[in-house]
Amino acid sequence: MVDLIEWPELPAAQQPQWPDRAALDAAVADLRALPPLVFAGECDQLTDRLATASRGEAFVLMGGDCAETFEGATADAIRGKLKTVLQMAVVLTYGASVPVVKIGRMAGQYGKPRSNGDEERDGVSLPSYRGDAVNGLAFTPQARREDPRRLVQAYHTASATLNLVRAFTQGGYADLRQVHAWNQDFVRESIAGEKYDRMAGEIDRALAFMNACGADPEEFRRVEFYAGHEALLLDYERALTRIDSRTGLRYDVSGHFVWIGERTRQLDGAHVDFAARIKNPIGVKLGPATSPEQAVELCERLDPDRVPGRLTLVSRMGAGRVRDVLPAVVEKVTASGHPVLWVCDPMHGNTFEGATGHKTRSYDDVVDEVRGFFEVHRRLGTHPGGIHIELTGDDVTECVGGTGGVLEADVGNRYETACDPRLNREQSLELAFDVAGWLISR
Ligand code: PEP
Ligand code: MN
Repeated sequence: MVDLIEWPELPAAQQPQWPDRAALDAAVADLRALPPLVFAGECDQLTDRLATASRGEAFVLMGGDCAETFEGATADAIRGKLKTVLQMAVVLTYGASVPVVKIGRMAGQYGKPRSNGDEERDGVSLPSYRGDAVNGLAFTPQARREDPRRLVQAYHTASATLNLVRAFTQGGYADLRQVHAWNQDFVRESIAGEKYDRMAGEIDRALAFMNACGADPEEFRRVEFYAGHEALLLDYERALTRIDSRTGLRYDVSGHFVWIGERTRQLDGAHVDFAARIKNPIGVKLGPATSPEQAVELCERLDPDRVPGRLTLVSRMGAGRVRDVLPAVVEKVTASGHPVLWVCDPMHGNTFEGATGHKTRSYDDVVDEVRGFFEVHRRLGTHPGGIHIELTGDDVTECVGGTGGVLEADVGNRYETACDPRLNREQSLELAFDVAGWLISR
């Protein structure tokens, strides 16, 4: 049964100007008739998991592409991202000594907010790329035309992605011992890995000990993995919002976790209103201009019932700002009594244009923002609950730095992202080992 849900008319930032209204209506009708990608019970379970993280009893790892593409939804690419997230999670589990809640920026990350509506190249101006769910990346008028049929293709691509992710995580491929073996390969074979020889050895002994005890728990063989994306394109998200027959509550069944981006978190805007009306666990990005009062107002709007795990505040202040801006925000939210989960996105406040003209980020800035995030929470007695990373399983050269070292001059060598620069596999694992090291020494 497809429920009809009415949505209020509110200003909605960052929406495509679909040129063909009839085609949009047809696409939305298609989406409304399609089955859910995730289930209400799974979303509730994630809320419970995030609640534990908000109390410091779990740590959250979110990771995946800045912008997923239809073309990029191959078995190899999906497996590569999943592997990277799982490898990071094992290291973080060891470092934090608590469960790691794993959420892929996957199976729905097909819409992008843009700072400029148009892109100019060599005197030619075309509409900006807004993600594969809206238009194409190629710099041609045809590709950049906004086509609502892409929303339906986004659904099917998400469906195929999620299917593979579920198969990998439930079918034995992601066995903890296997993931650890991949980490050992990383330590053995990469320049960055050498530094982590000791920690990998400790994890190895812990696993050998459990093996010797005869322990072979089900938890080693299956992985709980959730899908999340920015709830940006309201035509897509609304069409995939359903009323749960069991409880009568609304769930956005396009993903387990959805967040509101920095550019669409206006208190009187359609995105905040949308998120307030769904039962999924939700997030909001908070950039360096966030005032403590705004943060509290967002909490009031998005989590009036103060449900632990419901609301995640994802700070993305930049390495240079996090230590100045975050404390007052955390203090005010803590004083308000809202039981939020704090997660650090060390990517979006640290973007700059490198020597080759590419948008890039430095590994050192990424690490430094996470470190600042931990420092602030330690000092205030609150929990640094997780990290949110743009990454890929491929050996791209989009971000500079890390021990293996991508030099600024080399950024163009393998620059494959459709939007923001991602940590490559080695940089991602290095980050996990670094963060795990601090967690152990705390
Ligand atoms: C993103 O997560 O890709 C993004 C655009 O982030 P933000 O809204 O924080 O800028
Ligand atoms: Mn991004």
